[in-house]
Amino acid sequence: EGQRLAALAGARTLTRDGHEVRLFANAELPEEIAKARALGSAGVGLYRTEFLFLMRNALPDEEEQYAAYRDLVLGMGGLPVTIRTLDLGADKADATGLALMAERNPALGVRGVRLSLRRPAVFATQLRAILRASCYGPVRVLVPMVSSADELEAVRTLAGLCARDLRGEGYEIAEHIEIGAMIEVPAAAIGVRALLAHADFVAIGTNDLAQYVLAADRNNDALGALYDPLHPALLRLIAHVIGAGRRARKPVSLCGEIAGDVRFTPLLLALGLQEFSMHTGQILAVRDRVAGLHCGELRALAPRLLRAATRGEVEAILDAINGV
Ligand code: PEP
Ligand code: MG
Repeated sequence: EGQRLAALAGARTLTRDGHEVRLFANAELPEEIAKARALGSAGVGLYRTEFLFLMRNALPDEEEQYAAYRDLVLGMGGLPVTIRTLDLGADKADATGLALMAERNPALGVRGVRLSLRRPAVFATQLRAILRASCYGPVRVLVPMVSSADELEAVRTLAGLCARDLRGEGYEIAEHIEIGAMIEVPAAAIGVRALLAHADFVAIGTNDLAQYVLAADRNNDALGALYDPLHPALLRLIAHVIGAGRRARKPVSLCGEIAGDVRFTPLLLALGLQEFSMHTGQILAVRDRVAGLHCGELRALAPRLLRAATRGEVEAILDAINGV
């Protein structure tokens, strides 16, 4: 089995009926980046930058961040690299003193882009480092925890100022940098059409989207059964976002844990997903699963999946596909 999967490294990802799917990597560490490239991923779909800020007492400066982003971009050899701006707060603890205050309800608090926009100097340092790395290959900026287009526009404005400064200082940076939104707040999913007018791409973060849609803490084991990726309400939102992206002709990827779980591969193909981003360790298994699936047949199941009233009905349809 391991050998059979290993033979898929570097191969294209095609369904049984010849439909191409793009598998991106969620990566942070240098060894994961090398692996992402060796496995034939389409690029990095989610580079979480929190690890540069965690488990330390001082903020990383521009040079340190630049070195990390540059190595990432160089390591991917010209494939697109999606760098997510800082997503501290909530479950991502902070020891640098960046967070503004202790919060009663941190998951609903000043996290992600909310924190970045309140710390423009810190945010500008990160954006400058990302922009400087953009001369080595295609870089996209992904903004976490977006709930309105205003936040995206604020990021775009700050990035524009940083780019202007950098050019003035003599740095070579890419002409244009794509800026996208994580879709992980229910308002962003419901209102995705309005966001798409301001975003170059979107990435669905089902880890948080499930938590917020279901009002179930993603890290609370007591709520394990409620935190359910097969909940019909969540499926409808995912399908809504994918459809809106298709109509706006903008890329939609999904980078939550379910993207790398082969049990969900048929479901996500049925809902029309074409870009998956996952742990590098899952890429071959998902490529293998995709090869056994018929995209046309799955797409035809979407209306039934979206009409399902309960998770049980969704599961029954999936079990039939998975041959359980
Ligand atoms: C998500 O929320 O689905 C996601 C990919 O981001 P994170 O797990 O880092 O919050
Ligand atoms: Mg998230």
